Amino acid sequence: MSRIMNFNPGPAALPVVALERARDELLDFEGSGMSVMENSHRSKVYEAVHDRALSLLRELMAIPEDYDVVFLQGGASMQFALVPMSFLPPGGSADHIAMGAWSEKAHSEAAVWANAVGARARVAASTREGGYTRVVRPEEVKLDDGAAYVHYASNETIHGVQYRQLPTFGRASQVCDMSSDILSRKFDVAPFSLIYAGAQKNIGPSGVTIVIARHDFIEQGRKDLPKILQYRTHVEANSLLNTPPTFGIYLVRNVLDWLQSSGGVDAIEKQNGMKAAELYAVIDAHREFYRCPVELESRSVMNAVFRLPTEALDKLFVDEAKKASMVGLKGHRVIGGIRVSLYNAVEPTWVSTLCTFMKDFVNRHG
Ligand code: PMP
Repeated sequence: MSRIMNFNPGPAALPVVALERARDELLDFEGSGMSVMENSHRSKVYEAVHDRALSLLRELMAIPEDYDVVFLQGGASMQFALVPMSFLPPGGSADHIAMGAWSEKAHSEAAVWANAVGARARVAASTREGGYTRVVRPEEVKLDDGAAYVHYASNETIHGVQYRQLPTFGRASQVCDMSSDILSRKFDVAPFSLIYAGAQKNIGPSGVTIVIARHDFIEQGRKDLPKILQYRTHVEANSLLNTPPTFGIYLVRNVLDWLQSSGGVDAIEKQNGMKAAELYAVIDAHREFYRCPVELESRSVMNAVFRLPTEALDKLFVDEAKKASMVGLKGHRVIGGIRVSLYNAVEPTWVSTLCTFMKDFVNRHG
């Protein structure tokens, strides 16, 4: 067996310990004579896994008691639709902060709903003109006083732009897409009304979506939607309304157990900071060659993006890295260049190996 250095943007590298545990437990899960995915989602065996995953998440993120946590399906993209469906009423408005491909997508989905019900999905600020190379600063945001909520993304996975400190905008409810940096650092959940994230970067495999929301906010959600589209239904059913992605949730449990036993969010935050610092130092030491378009304070700790002097060199970089067992480095097709994803399970030694490769590459081709 040879595992390679995986810098994929998502689905992304998973901790090897979590995968080994899944391998060891695959055929006979806890003496049930079958794998966890062959057990009923109503069985005691599965329920323990499910509840453990939920409680680990609460513990690791210090989620306050008055918040609900649910596992849903449909990815973060489903949340782009469900949030306005629940919380953007006819005649109302929602404020969107647009600072990259994903927060734009969230806005355009909200606009579809707004259009259908006679509401408004506003762009309260955007960095589109500058090519999404920095975060939106709170002072440039033009909020609507009556907005039902403000939506933003904490980390733009494609553009490599991240809020190093999480802001709050005005007094409306704060809704945040944390798909690509949840669990990467400590932060206070309390200012947020609703947080969501697809699992496939820092939490587990794709197919599981995490929603963390204040209970009273969930209660405000629209009540005449089909039940399956209402958050409250999933809260009441403890995320077991219908058959959940049991194997995905099982893997989430394994990843969270790994995170807890490796020192929790504090420890991983330090490690993530060191990985990013090492990589950006190489980029900055060769700034004529590795060009990072993102402003210094907005650079993402999770997704570092840069370009080489030509597209041909970008391609050569990716090809040579692959020969050296490093994959997942090609930038998103929308912006090209190189993207290095540095999620929790990306090991510091991989980053060091990549940095050595980058220094050598610039010596040969710079
Ligand atoms: N938001 C962000 C910040 C993302 O990075 C992604 C996926 N890369 C999405 C939303 C969409 O997630 P999904 O594919 O789970 O719908």
